[in-house]
Amino acid sequence: MLTLDGVTVRFGERAALDAVDLDVAEHETVCVLGPSGSGKSTLLRVVAGLQPLDGGRVLLGGADQAGVAVHRRGLGLMFQDHQLFPQRDVAGNVAFGLRMRGASRAEQADRVRELLELVGLPGAERRAVAALSGGEQQRVALARALAPSPRLLMLDEPLGQLDRTLRERLVVELRSVFAQLGTTVLAVTHDQGEAFALADRVVVMRDGRIAQSGTPLEVWQRPASEFVARFLGFEN
Ligand code: ATP
Ligand code: MG
Repeated sequence: MLTLDGVTVRFGERAALDAVDLDVAEHETVCVLGPSGSGKSTLLRVVAGLQPLDGGRVLLGGADQAGVAVHRRGLGLMFQDHQLFPQRDVAGNVAFGLRMRGASRAEQADRVRELLELVGLPGAERRAVAALSGGEQQRVALARALAPSPRLLMLDEPLGQLDRTLRERLVVELRSVFAQLGTTVLAVTHDQGEAFALADRVVVMRDGRIAQSGTPLEVWQRPASEFVARFLGFEN
C-alpha cells in the first residue's frame, strides 16, 4: 500500500530521515514511536507530500508520488493541532472533504450521520465545535479525516492533548473503528502504551533511522538494541 524506499530528508547537516525503508500493507495499522526529534513527523510529512525529499521515493499503491499534489494522494490527515473550523458546526466540519469532492447534500448528510455514529457522537450534527470537549473535538477531527474514505489515514499524536483516561478509551475505540472500516493507518506517537494498544506493527525511530520494526509483542519481548530497550523503559 505504502512504500518508502531510501527516503532521506536533510535540514542543513542533519538528516531528519536517513535512507528510511518502510512498507505498510493494506489494512495494517503501523505506529511509529521514538523520542522527540527522531523524525516521526517528518516521516508523515514526506508521505503527505508536505516535505520535499533529498533522496529516495514514496510509493502509494505502487505509484511514485513525486510531483503528486497533497490533495490527490488520497490521504486522511489528523494532526495534533487538529484545527477544526470553528465557524462551522460538527456536520460542516465532517463534510469538508466530501464537499471538496462534489458530493451531493444527501450523500454528505448520510455519510456524516454514519461517521458520527461510528465515532460515538450520534446526532451531534448541529452542535458548535467550540462547545465540544477536547475528546469530542478529537472524534470530530477523526470523522472528518475518515469521511472521504482515505486509502491511508495518517495520525500525528492524535490524542496528544487529552488526559490519560480519555486517551486510553479513545485508543480502544480507534482500533475498533479501523477494524470495522479496514482502514490502513500510519500513526505517530511518543506514547508506547498508545502504540502498543493500537498497532499491528510498531516502528521505533532513532535519529532519522528505523531502530526496530515488529509486532508489539516482538518489540516488547526482543528489543533489537540497548536503545530500544531503554526507550521502552527497561532498567538495564
Ligand atoms: P517530536 O516527538 O518532538 O514531535 P519528531 O520525531 O516528530 O519529534 P521531527 O519533527 O520529524 O521529529 O524532526 C526531526 C528532526 O528534524 C529534528 O531534529 C528537527 O529539529 C528537524 N526539523 C524538522 N523540521 C524542520 C524544519 N522545518 N527545519 C529545520 N529542522 C527541522
Ligand atoms: Mg513530531
